[in-house]
Amino acid sequence: MSEKYEVQVSEKLGRYLVAATDIKAGETILSDKPFVLGPNSDTSLVCFNCYLPLISKFFVCKYCAVAPICPGDGCPEQLSKWHSQSECDFFRTLKLTKGLNPMTMVQNVGSLLVLRVVLKKDFDKAAFEEFMQLETHLDMRRNTCVWKFCENTAKFIRSLGVLEDIDDADFIQKICAAIDVNSFEVRGPPVPAIGCSELLRGVYLKAALMAHDCLSNTHVAINDKNILVCHASTEIRKGETIYYNYTDPLKGTKLRQQHLEVGKYFRCACKRCQDVSEIGTYMSSALCPGCKTGYISPSCEMWTCHSCNSKYERSEIEHKIQCCSEKLAIINKKDEKELEEYVKNVSLVLAPNHYLLLEAKQRLAGVLRDAINREPRPTKKMMRRKIELCKELLPVLEKISPGICRIKAITLYELHCTMVQLAKKLFDGREINGSAYLDELQNAEKHLKKSIEMLLIEPGNSPEGELCSKALEEYRALKAAITGVLLGMQSEEKTYASQTDKISPTSNVN
Ligand SMILES: [Zn+2]
Ligand SMILES: [Zn+2]
Ligand SMILES: [Zn+2]
Ligand SMILES: [Zn+2]
Repeated sequence: MSEKYEVQVSEKLGRYLVAATDIKAGETILSDKPFVLGPNSDTSLVCFNCYLPLISKFFVCKYCAVAPICPGDGCPEQLSKWHSQSECDFFRTLKLTKGLNPMTMVQNVGSLLVLRVVLKKDFDKAAFEEFMQLETHLDMRRNTCVWKFCENTAKFIRSLGVLEDIDDADFIQKICAAIDVNSFEVRGPPVPAIGCSELLRGVYLKAALMAHDCLSNTHVAINDKNILVCHASTEIRKGETIYYNYTDPLKGTKLRQQHLEVGKYFRCACKRCQDVSEIGTYMSSALCPGCKTGYISPSCEMWTCHSCNSKYERSEIEHKIQCCSEKLAIINKKDEKELEEYVKNVSLVLAPNHYLLLEAKQRLAGVLRDAINREPRPTKKMMRRKIELCKELLPVLEKISPGICRIKAITLYELHCTMVQLAKKLFDGREINGSAYLDELQNAEKHLKKSIEMLLIEPGNSPEGELCSKALEEYRALKAAITGVLLGMQSEEKTYASQTDKISPTSNVN
């Protein structure tokens, strides 16, 4: 199969990927296994072989007597999954020649990923050289706190004697930088019965070449085998750049840029970042204190109303927004009343789609979802409010994450659940007739179908993949219910209860 992408080089983007052919939304662009995978620099202890957290005790690998691994019957994974034969031999030699102690590795677990890159130099030369070509922005890191922090890693790795034939004094700094700039977050394996897992970092040599844009055209998922699969989220025409979004699209421009500058060492100049309205969402704008209907956004030293052109002091408006942000940080985000109160108050200050309001609304929808599922007789008011919140979020998501998008899929699923629940309640209470009931079910079906189309590309055993299986089951039940209602209406029966009892979707996603 010919590749769907090709690597190009430019001054601005360095090496980057472009579509080698027209790619449809949902099509796989690339699939990539990790060059290295390992714990974060600030992680707690994990098994060197399978990455399960080692909570109270651990064993050491019986071959090298150095690498900490799962206790008891040992690792669920065969040895040499991530604790490779070459790493094991390396530790074993150090144990014999220098008396390397397991505790030394336990204390330096945060340097394991870097060490694994260094070991690739001798065991996987071609891939190692490709890794060393990745973007590092080294000059911007020099003498910063991160640089000083990485000096500890350099010192530790030097103490193992693996750098003796390396002339480059910045060798370890380059590796640390390439990892920081290019790695993806990877969910580690869940602890059986508890479910928690460590967050790992993986470097994927092909995927690392994707350029950033706050409006990406891809959807990335990493499955439980740690394979990264990248799909097109929208149609990409031959020759167009393939973009991945390294930031959270639900944050405003200032926060996204800070995240990119601190973690990735560049300033984004994408279409969304350059537009004060953030492509018409006004996600960082406030309500105009003058006309009270227009939105004000920063322009030069002032904030200007898009509607009445009034101007306001920057410090005055930014102070107000800061207060809204601080308030959200301290309220109880599991409390329906507190969240409603926050939304009500802040709506007098911020534009309706301001990212702080969107966050509060998302949280509120989650609280309502839990309450509706928990309570034996959830109220219609709760359901209507949840439907309203989902409907407010969707058009914003459509703008900031066009095409296939995980949060959009979950929101559509949630919307369908509550629409079906509410319709059933109204119909059972004889508040709507059969035909209105049918309309509602058919509308919910459309949302569910759209959600499933997006969830289908998620890996099977991820939380989203599990949601997909659940959504498919509910789709079948909903179809059957719709047929039941139709038949009931045709035969002019007045009781549809027996057919509609089958559907009672419950949502359980976070
Ligand atoms: Zn293990
Ligand atoms: Zn070993
Ligand atoms: Zn941007
Ligand atoms: Zn105004």
